[in-house]
Amino acid sequence: MKILVLNAGSTSMKYCLYDMGGEAKVLAKGLSERIGIDGRTSLTVDGEKMVFDDPLPTHEAAFRLILALLTDPARNILMDIRELNGVGHRFAHGGWHIGGNTLVNGEIRRYIPGCHDLTPLQSPYAELCIDACTALLGAHVPQALVCDTSFHATMPKRAYLTPLPKDLREKYHIRRYGFHGTSHQYVAEQAALLMNRPLPELNLITCHLGGGCSVTAIEKGRSVDTSMEYSGISGVPMGTRIGDLDPHIQCYILEHEGMAPAELQDILYHRSGLRAIAGVGPDLREIEAAAAAGNEDAKDAVELFCYRIKKYIGAYFAALNGADAIVFTAGIGENSPGIRAGVLEGLDRLGILLDTARNESCRGKAGKISPDGAPVAVYAIPTDEELMIARETVRLIQMQNA
Ligand code: AMP
Repeated sequence: MKILVLNAGSTSMKYCLYDMGGEAKVLAKGLSERIGIDGRTSLTVDGEKMVFDDPLPTHEAAFRLILALLTDPARNILMDIRELNGVGHRFAHGGWHIGGNTLVNGEIRRYIPGCHDLTPLQSPYAELCIDACTALLGAHVPQALVCDTSFHATMPKRAYLTPLPKDLREKYHIRRYGFHGTSHQYVAEQAALLMNRPLPELNLITCHLGGGCSVTAIEKGRSVDTSMEYSGISGVPMGTRIGDLDPHIQCYILEHEGMAPAELQDILYHRSGLRAIAGVGPDLREIEAAAAAGNEDAKDAVELFCYRIKKYIGAYFAALNGADAIVFTAGIGENSPGIRAGVLEGLDRLGILLDTARNESCRGKAGKISPDGAPVAVYAIPTDEELMIARETVRLIQMQNA
């Protein structure tokens, strides 16, 4: 089965083409960037990367170019678009109508615009991709929505209830949904493989630390709590996103600044977080470099980031009554030994220890970074959300055909 996975942002479209027969094999992957600005598209086949500067005025134009690259006879990737058996879309927030992972049909398609308010940086662009696929591939090619929220559907009420008045809660479906679910699930499965133990026996704390950050408590393989609540700005502070915030602060700013809610939302999404403390960034590499050069604000940002993640680890250690392993993933979690060390510093009384040499040498690859025999194992594991989306797309198509 040939499955194309698409992950759309406001000006970008990440793609990965898999052959899912037997062991999943990546046939080609790449990224269209600067959509609506000028346009740049990469294509990587067998480790060789090519870049194309064709203009990309719209997401549909980007998808058209991606299809042209994948079906170019000179490259021998796909002979024809009719070889595609399905498309899997990353969909950040399933909301309440869509709920979990699903194939797109007329009814689901109508619900999609209702999700835009919840994930304004992602959902409107996924919609554009879905429509481009329907237009260019035909409505008969199955398309799946694989939601970041799905893995967290197992949270108990005590974790997902938001203590607001019932009428408001019910009217606006306010509760904890959680995000980065495919990533948390993938690294949990990989950790179980590395530990050579069945996932349903394990309690894990997974830290997805990238452009977006969330920490999840996994009990016997199932998500039981996670740091992001109703939207992707809650929980751990991120490059530009605020993270957890005393709600009174928002009321106070709105009242005293005479600010429109949309303006405050822009501040909380784009002008807060680590960059607001550091004065540089938001890329953590820049903040770490500034801190290393003696910039006190950047040092504060790094310390705050590590401390806030550590507090979630402590909370979830208590929620789970102990953890078998802690896993770091995503851009920061996979590549920054400094952040991993900062987060885990001073947790030895919980049995959480780091092997300094292993931690330093583990960058962008899977590895154990705790000493052998430590009560809690610690791993860095590269995430692979695209593979999870491809697998789930196959499962949904097979279920429909059964
Ligand atoms: P992601 O959302 O998983 O693609 O992660 C993107 C983020 O990872 C970037 O904003 C960087 O802050 C961070 N990142 C990537 N590489 C490194 C690195 N080598 N060291 C520290 N942070 C990194």
